[in-house]
Amino acid sequence: MELKKQPLASYDLHLHTFWSYDGCTSVEYYFQRALELKLRAIAITEHFTMDSLPDIITASKKYPAVRFIPSVEMTVTCSVGAVDILCFGMPLEIPTEIEEIFERYRQWQRDCGEAFSRGMTELGFNYSKNERLKLLKKYRPANVIEKQGVTHVYGQSAYFINAGYIKSGDDAKLLKEKIRIPEYPQAREILPAFKRCGALIAIAHPTHYFNRNDIERMDELRDELSFEGIECAHDLIPMELTHFYRDYCLKHGLFSSGGSDSHSDPDNPKIHIGTQHEFARHIGEQE
Ligand SMILES: [Zn+2]
Repeated sequence: MELKKQPLASYDLHLHTFWSYDGCTSVEYYFQRALELKLRAIAITEHFTMDSLPDIITASKKYPAVRFIPSVEMTVTCSVGAVDILCFGMPLEIPTEIEEIFERYRQWQRDCGEAFSRGMTELGFNYSKNERLKLLKKYRPANVIEKQGVTHVYGQSAYFINAGYIKSGDDAKLLKEKIRIPEYPQAREILPAFKRCGALIAIAHPTHYFNRNDIERMDELRDELSFEGIECAHDLIPMELTHFYRDYCLKHGLFSSGGSDSHSDPDNPKIHIGTQHEFARHIGEQE
């Protein structure tokens, strides 16, 4: 059965709001949907920071029936390149060590934005910090921009096409290859701090990282990153692999997670972001 015809899951442990550079909905949207759909738990897993935590606390007071797991999604560099790691069960009081890491990633996001602006300028196009700010304002509220600064932008390829800088998505890929963006921090510098604060870490949507079902590579990455779990259910993971990853988890005593990776309210997106993902749409098993 295809994913759209499957029943909705009873939990969604991979969600982004406009506190992520590529999200455009509010924290409250997910709490409201979780209540409507009677979900057992949600996890808002912003990219690189827990800047949405105050909004989450406020929403959880308004929707006390919705259980949330304080979480974050960190992208780190390892032997296979950049990998997304979900950290679940974060403390509500963010330790200094973690806050320093978050600040490092806020800076990374601004540096990444600057790298795009610099690269485009060198190629003869106008893509200043101010252009980026205008684009960010289309989908991120002022307080978010104030906290994180003028970061990299979601949807810039569409903007480049509209501006006549490039003609197609393929051109955008070529352009990206020409522009050197900073590397994400190394896994070994980042992940131990998250384990120290008590979080459990899971490798996110691993189809590509695992070369689909390359067990040797799965073992190597488990060794290298010491993850305790795998996001087995996600709409980027073919169903047969969901079962394969779940079996691997059972065999090695890892926890399994599932999430939709929603970035927007598909019925009401501020800009076209991740509307293919649908809240609570994944085939993770109940337990
Ligand atoms: Zn994500």
